[in-house]
Amino acid sequence: MFREDFCTVCGDCLIWCPYIEIGEEESKKEFQKLINGKPSRIVSECVSCMGCNEICPEKANPFSLIVKRQEEQNEAARFEKAKINMEGAYSMPSEIQKGAEDGPVIDICTVYPIIPGLFEGVLFEGATFIKGGDYFCGIGFYHIGMPSRVEKNAASVVKNVSQTGAKEVICYHDDCYTLFKAIAPELGIKVPFRPVSWPEFLYRRLKALEDRIHPIDKAVAYQRPCSSRYTPDKDAYVDDIFDLIGARKPSRSYEKTQSLCCGGSIVPRNWEAANQIKHKNLEDATAAGAEIIVTLCPLCFANLRKRAPEHNLSVMAISDLCRAALGEVKIE
Ligand code: SF4
Ligand code: SF4
Repeated sequence: MFREDFCTVCGDCLIWCPYIEIGEEESKKEFQKLINGKPSRIVSECVSCMGCNEICPEKANPFSLIVKRQEEQNEAARFEKAKINMEGAYSMPSEIQKGAEDGPVIDICTVYPIIPGLFEGVLFEGATFIKGGDYFCGIGFYHIGMPSRVEKNAASVVKNVSQTGAKEVICYHDDCYTLFKAIAPELGIKVPFRPVSWPEFLYRRLKALEDRIHPIDKAVAYQRPCSSRYTPDKDAYVDDIFDLIGARKPSRSYEKTQSLCCGGSIVPRNWEAANQIKHKNLEDATAAGAEIIVTLCPLCFANLRKRAPEHNLSVMAISDLCRAALGEVKIE
């Protein structure tokens, strides 16, 4: 939630924004308009990358204010198709695929079909998978200016997941991890299990299989997803995975707090602008010397996969990169 009491109206959040061109004075004025609930160009120009929440030096959460104003002004009316698709996710059949009694419980939400064949091999031995609409975190509604939809459903998703009885729940989708780790506690919802990020889970499993790892002597760029703006704690596990599997992580312009959107949230707003961002992102990875771009979020994977070959890059899900180090998957 936006912390007006923390905000100094310095305008830094909007000046930093990679998707809005704005000077210092106008930034301060526009931000004040947002605070006052007055019409502001930012409401329609914000592409919901969530980045300014992480950038704000006062931890005032400016994106939370912007997305609230977007909802008040019914920005979602511009994204009817995306809205229908997301509402449909709540109706996806729900299922618990039981694994071993002492195996990990993995929440694969409604995004599991995006990359087929991902949950195979030794990393996932004995896992219980929970999936479907009952477990849909709904964080995607932030991207179409409907934060209340996330808030409305958060408690029931937490309840549904907690009914597995698991003490810790592995979150395949970074959005789910963010719901349980950051958003639900902010809403005052008690989360009775420990959410575990995908990189933490992969690192722990790899560490247990360390003697089977064949180092990957490749330069690999990392595509950080938007939800990590709320939960940057997991970045350390990504670095640990790279170290463990021997992948080189070239220094690129768009990493950590300076990460660039995969383009997914821009597509429904402006296809051509999204296309340019995707190419800009991939160009940056290639310029840094990367041969592979690895994604944490399956939607980042889907958004970058078609254009990556034009930049001599392979796109891989981070779990497949781990499986490649275990000799289970070939690097294209
Ligand atoms: S939200 Fe943060 S960065 Fe933005 S104007 Fe307020 S204090 Fe400055
Ligand atoms: S959420 Fe992203 S696009 Fe929107 S104002 Fe903040 S930095 Fe810009």
